[in-house]
Amino acid sequence: MRMEGKVVIVTGGASGIGLASVERCLAEGARVVIADIEASDGAERAAELDVRYPGRCRFEACDVTDTAQVDRLFEETLAAFGSVDAVFNNAGIGGIAPSDELSDEEYLKVIDINLNGVFRVARAALRVMYRQGQGSIVNCASILGVFGQSQTAAYTAAKGGVVNLTRTLAIEAAPKGVRVNAIGPGYIDTPLLAALDDELLQGLIDLHPLARLGRPEEVANAFLFLASDEASFVTGTHLMVDGGFTAGKS
Ligand code: NDP
Repeated sequence: MRMEGKVVIVTGGASGIGLASVERCLAEGARVVIADIEASDGAERAAELDVRYPGRCRFEACDVTDTAQVDRLFEETLAAFGSVDAVFNNAGIGGIAPSDELSDEEYLKVIDINLNGVFRVARAALRVMYRQGQGSIVNCASILGVFGQSQTAAYTAAKGGVVNLTRTLAIEAAPKGVRVNAIGPGYIDTPLLAALDDELLQGLIDLHPLARLGRPEEVANAFLFLASDEASFVTGTHLMVDGGFTAGKS
């Protein structure tokens, strides 16, 4: 069991990549907290998984735009499970609009969830992990953290920020025994893509040399590696899980 004895928090854990990561960690022996907004399916998913993996899956309502909720997530996890060994900073939303039509409200919402939320969760994780003297934080970035794409100004700004935030946190946290990495998924078949029409989706698939969308489990496998002790000498990286999307561009 690759995650035996470890306690993992997954933000945005009720759906898509987050839920696949929750399931992967449970199957490898971890105790896992699904952290997601109150209105999500998180409580239901956690209850189902706790039946399959008794006493090992909990739900905590946490909106990553709210510092008090983020801090409470860590307090509740410590109270229930005793430590926080790995965090998947995965909560995120999409956003497609021409930049000249993007309102302050829409722009700031994406930045507040996809970038500021990552910082809030990482900061709370560092406080706990520094006391423990160990831990692994994995931030969900994107191929759009390293390449631009039309009509995704807020999203690409946020994800680019996540990539460089990861590097800084990794340097800062290394002397305290804490690793910080990012994952850069290509287009993955999750509810996040539900708003895209078939033609647009096919155009995006064509950008991946492997000629398909990725599956949530394929990103979960990368999270599992970075969260586990197998990645003990890996910090500050942005691990692409993108079907070759970035290979031809670098
Ligand atoms: P999903 O929409 O399936 O899952 C995202 C989860 O985050 C949902 O459960 C959502 O809840 C939750 N969430 C939204 N806002 C908040 C918030 N403020 N606080 C806490 N949780 C929140 O998307 P994916 O699994 O596809 O995305 C996961 C991550 O992967 C995101 O960071 C995304 O940017 C990134 N990514 C995804 C790619 C893709 O192609 N799918 C490509 C590259 C990166 P609810 O559904 O209730 O809103």
